[in-house]
Amino acid sequence: VDFLRNLFSKTLGISGEKVLDELTLEGVASYIQSGKCKNIICMVGAGISTSAGIPDFRSPDTGLYANLQKYNLPYPEAIFQIDYFKKHPEPFFALARELYPGQFKPTVCHYFIKLLKDKGLLKRCYSQNIDTLERVAGLEGEDLIEAHGTFYTSHCVSFMCRKEYDLDWMKEKIFSDDIPKCDKCSNLVKPDIVFFGENLPKRFFTSMAMDFPRCDLLIIMGTSLQVQPFAALVGSCPRLLINLEKAGGADPLLGIISIGGGMDFDSAKAYRDVAHISTCDDGCLALAELLGWKAELEEMVKREHEKINSKAEEEQTNQSSGAAGKAESGKAESGKAESGMAESGMAESGKAESGKAEVE
Ligand SMILES: [Zn+2]
Repeated sequence: VDFLRNLFSKTLGISGEKVLDELTLEGVASYIQSGKCKNIICMVGAGISTSAGIPDFRSPDTGLYANLQKYNLPYPEAIFQIDYFKKHPEPFFALARELYPGQFKPTVCHYFIKLLKDKGLLKRCYSQNIDTLERVAGLEGEDLIEAHGTFYTSHCVSFMCRKEYDLDWMKEKIFSDDIPKCDKCSNLVKPDIVFFGENLPKRFFTSMAMDFPRCDLLIIMGTSLQVQPFAALVGSCPRLLINLEKAGGADPLLGIISIGGGMDFDSAKAYRDVAHISTCDDGCLALAELLGWKAELEEMVKREHEKINSKAEEEQTNQSSGAAGKAESGKAESGKAESGMAESGMAESGKAESGKAEVE
């Protein structure tokens, strides 16, 4: 009966029941500790990667667009428009070279999400970011919806071909000043990030419909995205926002499906929304501390960062010893195992998930 009651109240969103003792980070922590919170969904945006030194690729506020004059773009956004790109790929790749992160090192916040996974609490992470840091932190294709696509894989733009290329291949092209061309059919090769004029990944919608009715807690970090369409699906579960500001700009892509409304932190009717105004790293550390996970999280960050550093040193040594063959070790790592996000593979991974959902 409890199960049915939960299902109904969640599906219909009737309950309006106050799940949190108090609308604070402490309230969220004790809810997680209560054992009633089994499925956590994270929605993350550019703010979780800024401490990794990654600029917000598409935000008009970053000043990036101002640097694009030399390319004589008809208007700045053209650089991310698929039709323009197919005719004039040079500005996009020049920008990619300019912005390419020196090192892919996930933040405390990324590792907090990984910790949720390790504790069996992460239902899914929906990311607006294209920097692949979630994957570097240890999330797998199945844990992750990259709503704006990813740099992790690239594809030939020809619908007849669609040959897949990995990150190392693309990186080499970007830094060699070559426009990446398919070695099979000579068409352009484009990173799998979603351009304006392209559809969001199908898996985004199928997973959303599956995940959100089962969500016990939504954690939104590094984005002030209006979450109304998700909210409708979530019923009445608590929502925690960790961000530097409470409200702000809408997502240029997801904004299309965001129909007004939003979170309610302060009104007399507020019953489930908690805002923690801080950097994502600080917010995650504070929550981890309340959960008794702080030492574990810090240990994980230290350990993983050391691994990344020593790998980088190793690569540098290899490079300076001039061994061409060493480049292959990098390639092997970014190989097929995690290529579930490849567009061609999306339909299948979606199926696999719905199969899994039924078993649950
Ligand atoms: Zn091709």
